[in-house]
Amino acid sequence: MDLNDFSHFAKKSETSERVGGINCISYTRVSSKEQEEGYSLETQRKAIEQHSQKNKLYIVATFGGTYESAKTDERKEFTKMISFARKSKEKISYILVYSVDRFSRSGANAIYIASELRKENIKILAVTQPADTGTASGKLQQNIQFIFSEYDNDLRKEKCVAGMKEKLQEGYWVTKAPLGYDQYTKHKTQYITVNEIGKKLRKAFLWRASENLTNIEILEKLHVMGVQISKQYLTEMFRNPFYCGILVHNFLNGKVVEGKHEKLISKEIFLQINKPTMHLPPIKHKTEFEDTPLKHFIKCGTCGTAFSGYVVKAKGLHYYKCNKNGCKCNRRVDDMHEIFLHLLSSYLIDEKYAEPIKDEFVRFVQSINQSNKDNQHTYKAQIQSVEKKIEAVEEKFVLGDIDKDLYEKFKLKFTHEKDQIEEKVENVHFDLSNLKDWVDSYFKLGANLSKIWTSSTYRAKAELQNLIFPEGILYDREKHYYRTPRINSVIRYMSDIAGSLGQEKSRLPNDYLGKSALVAGAGFEPTTFGL
Ligand SMILES: [Zn+2]
Repeated sequence: MDLNDFSHFAKKSETSERVGGINCISYTRVSSKEQEEGYSLETQRKAIEQHSQKNKLYIVATFGGTYESAKTDERKEFTKMISFARKSKEKISYILVYSVDRFSRSGANAIYIASELRKENIKILAVTQPADTGTASGKLQQNIQFIFSEYDNDLRKEKCVAGMKEKLQEGYWVTKAPLGYDQYTKHKTQYITVNEIGKKLRKAFLWRASENLTNIEILEKLHVMGVQISKQYLTEMFRNPFYCGILVHNFLNGKVVEGKHEKLISKEIFLQINKPTMHLPPIKHKTEFEDTPLKHFIKCGTCGTAFSGYVVKAKGLHYYKCNKNGCKCNRRVDDMHEIFLHLLSSYLIDEKYAEPIKDEFVRFVQSINQSNKDNQHTYKAQIQSVEKKIEAVEEKFVLGDIDKDLYEKFKLKFTHEKDQIEEKVENVHFDLSNLKDWVDSYFKLGANLSKIWTSSTYRAKAELQNLIFPEGILYDREKHYYRTPRINSVIRYMSDIAGSLGQEKSRLPNDYLGKSALVAGAGFEPTTFGL
């Protein structure tokens, strides 16, 4: 009996075959920016090949090698490379790169990935910076190189921001142009021109400016022309001065610059659409919409479908109806308007409380704003922490510590978390410079709600409705009244103050100061009314 009889009991790690192996993969990487600076994939490839020949290594596969500009593409290729290294049937012993910064620029993160790979006996070998990572000092050397590459990267980012600022000042756009534009560079000059979609979007601007159409009508028309965008996108588009040739950007620090790109519309049209207080142009002819201003806005309380409007010409009567087949809910327009006016009147503010309400409200907003400012730092820290969690999950997935299901589950969870915090950050911006005017106009609106709605044109009615009830209203057919999923927080707040003033004149409702959620709601700027 000799020890060989026991050999099939011997233990062996799955990756031990990699030790001293000759199989390797080649990974090259260059960003488009570096390409301009004279870094070359060719140089990297040649150096790696020479090294592999000299040291009798066999290149099983090559990764990277394309000029990837987008960060995500680069990441994808990197992930593919790591997963190949770990899973390939030919046992991979080395990942060959030109220099350590070609492997990754992420410093500590790269050190972590490298150490995890080392546990599986895969080493990163930078052919121009040889370090035997099998030894402690070699490992240290490579880690220091990783850290320096991150530092270099930060320096480059700083330079890059300075370059972008300069370009913006000169009138060149530095990121992706908005929908409706083609963007390309020729002989080092940037060109941004209106494309086919842009020509259709131009019509949307004109409809909005001269034909008095609502956003919903415009969306419907664009849809027919094959352009599908969301209501939110359309609103943002109308407010984006890029379309009339103007550049605004965080990097410009409040400055406005004339852009060098093609204009989609004139500045006059843009300003007409975005007038701070819009005086509505006179209606030339009565449209079919005039008689049914609550169309699309009322939703069926039974099934949630938006109501449409129709007319019975023989009787000369207009109706609203639930658009869902078989729901059979139609009501006369007069009846529906009557209860809508009743709803509006319940938020009416009494003029005699004007001063105390305005004072109280200004104080309220100021205090909210201060506490929001204090929270900014907390939010930023929260975002950073979630971003770290996302990165960690990605790493774990790349390294095979977790499977795809788990990865996707957590990625989704953390991304959702991040979105929520970012939403909060966006909501805390509130400009106090013209708070007084703003409160005045809100008060005026609140004190005249039903009057304003009744005397407004179709278009202004629609805007007023959406301002006060941002999610529309639900019609309860049994009780014949409207349910309101969301009410403009300012209007509600003002009418609450008025209510409590009415009950007990000496007491101001200080208990509202805690309700910062009020201000986090949408609909905070009463901009588009001819008040
Ligand atoms: Zn219905």
